[in-house]
Amino acid sequence: MYFRLASRFLFETDKRLLAKAAWTLGVKGLWSVHKHKRRLKRGEFFPPFLYLSVINSCNLRCQGCWVDVAAKQHRIELDAANETIRQAKAMGNSFFGILGGEPFMHKDLLKIFEQNRDVYFQVFTNGHFITDEVAAELKRFGNVTPLISVEGSEIISDERRGRAGVLNQTMEGLKTALKHNLLVGVCTSVCKSNIDDLVNDAWVNRLIEMGVMYCWYHIYRPVGPESNAQLALTSDQQRRVRQFVVDTRATKPIIVIDAYHDDAGNALCPAATGFTHHVGPWGDIEPCPVIQLATESIHDDRPLAETFNESAFLKDFRSLTAEHTRGCVIMERPDLLVELAEKHGARDTTARGAVIEELKNVTPRRSQFQPGDEIPERSFVYRWAKKYAFNDFGTYARHFDATKYRDPDKDAPDSERSKSELPVLQ
Ligand code: SF4
Repeated sequence: MYFRLASRFLFETDKRLLAKAAWTLGVKGLWSVHKHKRRLKRGEFFPPFLYLSVINSCNLRCQGCWVDVAAKQHRIELDAANETIRQAKAMGNSFFGILGGEPFMHKDLLKIFEQNRDVYFQVFTNGHFITDEVAAELKRFGNVTPLISVEGSEIISDERRGRAGVLNQTMEGLKTALKHNLLVGVCTSVCKSNIDDLVNDAWVNRLIEMGVMYCWYHIYRPVGPESNAQLALTSDQQRRVRQFVVDTRATKPIIVIDAYHDDAGNALCPAATGFTHHVGPWGDIEPCPVIQLATESIHDDRPLAETFNESAFLKDFRSLTAEHTRGCVIMERPDLLVELAEKHGARDTTARGAVIEELKNVTPRRSQFQPGDEIPERSFVYRWAKKYAFNDFGTYARHFDATKYRDPDKDAPDSERSKSELPVLQ
């Protein structure tokens, strides 16, 4: 499998793009994690990976989206984006996740990529705006990987994404990106209506045949104004996805990303560990994209290094969350976020201005934290990479207090509770 994966990278990709990714994402990315660890030892803080939602607008209306896509357009303008990237680079960062809305609706998105060619961007997109011209530009810059979201079969995609023909257009964008030999990933927010179609070998084999180099499975999080809780996975289904990810990593020549487990399969939250934080379209600095609360902004006068290091809100978020769960706080303990917002006077960063109400309406449910059912990595490459570069950096040893953990499954109605329909594999 490792040989097949290596030969795919060697023979199916553009060598210049591969070298660029290996240097800016691989070598410099590892260096940024190393610097992060050294900062933590000195009692300082700056997240090594930043996510920037550069625009709120989108051409789709997906079920469960938490972004105000239909509100008046707001963007992180070119100068502000460049300045944020410049300041993060000064801290050693070399990788940025770009989200929206739909990022390609930002009029200066390509300029952001072009003017920051010494760092690497992963752009989360529905693929609809990846034309030949756009793909050719991305290839010329060499520092962008499109991560194209596919949310199910044609019928499910159209239903989940609020319009007819969505999947076709997405697949067109994917093919165009591949035709230009870009390093392309496909991501899915796994929910009840797409788990059977997309969490299986046939789908991954198809991606490999098409030339996709990596895939990313998120778990659908029922948050936001129309949370669609009926789509959320049960605990058994979440363990099934985790097992599939671990098995695929060990057997298929494609990279599989998930951001919620360490090498031993212990759950973690990348925002609670401080691995990443997020900047919204209005410039607000938030714990992560779905937690739309902030006390600071990139537009504040003080430097970003100072803001991240001194933010009492973000610091409290990390410790309070880690104290109560290794999972996703917005799914398991939305009440803690309400408490935190009140304590710090955090502002609602949405246009709809109803975040606190929405949090109060979330029914707690289990997330990636499945105590006692940890599924360790089978692949030695992922084990090594996670040991060094993706783990909790001591967060839970410092903060987690098992007596404060509340198991949402214990309080859930029978219909929601985890049922042992699947064996837990080792
Ligand atoms: S709070 Fe939940 S959605 Fe946000 S980074 Fe943590 S696990 Fe992910």
